[in-house]
Amino acid sequence: MAEKLSVSFEFFPPSSEAAEARLWNTVEKLAPLGPAFASVTYGAGGTTRERTLKVVQKLKNDGRMEPAAHLTCVGADKAEIDGIARGWLEAGISRLVALRGDPPQDTGRYQPHPNGYQNAADLVSGLRKIGDFDISVAAYPEAHPDSPSEVADIANLKAKIDNGANRAITQYFFDVDLFLRFRDKVAAAGIDAPLVPGIMPIGHFGRMVNFSKRCGASVPDWLFERFEGLDDDPETRELVAASTAADLCHRLIEEGVTDFHFYTLNVPSLTFATCHLLGMRPNLSEAA
Ligand code: FAD
Repeated sequence: MAEKLSVSFEFFPPSSEAAEARLWNTVEKLAPLGPAFASVTYGAGGTTRERTLKVVQKLKNDGRMEPAAHLTCVGADKAEIDGIARGWLEAGISRLVALRGDPPQDTGRYQPHPNGYQNAADLVSGLRKIGDFDISVAAYPEAHPDSPSEVADIANLKAKIDNGANRAITQYFFDVDLFLRFRDKVAAAGIDAPLVPGIMPIGHFGRMVNFSKRCGASVPDWLFERFEGLDDDPETRELVAASTAADLCHRLIEEGVTDFHFYTLNVPSLTFATCHLLGMRPNLSEAA
């Protein structure tokens, strides 16, 4: 089964020397698993622009993982964003994850830049005019918190695909049935692009719970029970996290899913152990 699986990994750009070392250690560990691509996030409000660029470029030069650069519409006009996208193409980077992004913290509802892209669907249209990108977009099994309804959210996803996106990567989730119901609704809406589940191996349970409140992902009761008492026990927590993520993936595989996008949080062990439990093994000769 493992040879039928395709994985991609998401990293975030480091903000300190220690974090930088952790990132490249993660890349070293995960590259031999042969991911389809490795995406690098773009900090809220474009705050990590230079750091994202640096990591994407280094991954490209390193040659072991095909990088994908995240790009958001926040805080920049169309000309500026188009310039960034052209820069990626010139640097040989043609994979993008196109997002609207979030407003800067405590500034309330999202407001597009007056001369900017209105949302991710608009951004995808703009990128398609610039070049032959491979474009991933975001999808929300529990609907995006800004969305007026589930139907509107799926219509928004359809607009992103109709405007030229190649696949959708979902927000993380912990309830398989929830994803399967969403997949059915997406298909019923006539969206036939691949829907790749985003898998979050849980690094720190409390932090994940707080983040989930902000992004509208639900955390089921059984997960609280599973991580109970492990706050000060990182070793056991890691074992539980990897087996929880692998259980989720195994159930998805039973339902015909073959592609997974891992939110690695720049932690090598969690994603590596999860992939190992799925039967994937590193190809050390190719990665050398
Ligand atoms: P969109 O798809 O444009 O829309 C978000 C919501 O707004 C939808 O519910 C939609 O229905 C609604 N909406 C959009 N346009 C309209 C309209 N015209 N009228 C009414 N409603 C509308 N954030 C970052 O800052 N950097 C990253 O690197 C990053 N990477 C991510 C990767 C993945 C896989 C995912 C799932 C999310 C990521 N995010 C990232 C978070 C993302 O930026 C936020 O969730 C953001 O709030 C929405 O972005 P989007 O691209 O989904 O927006």
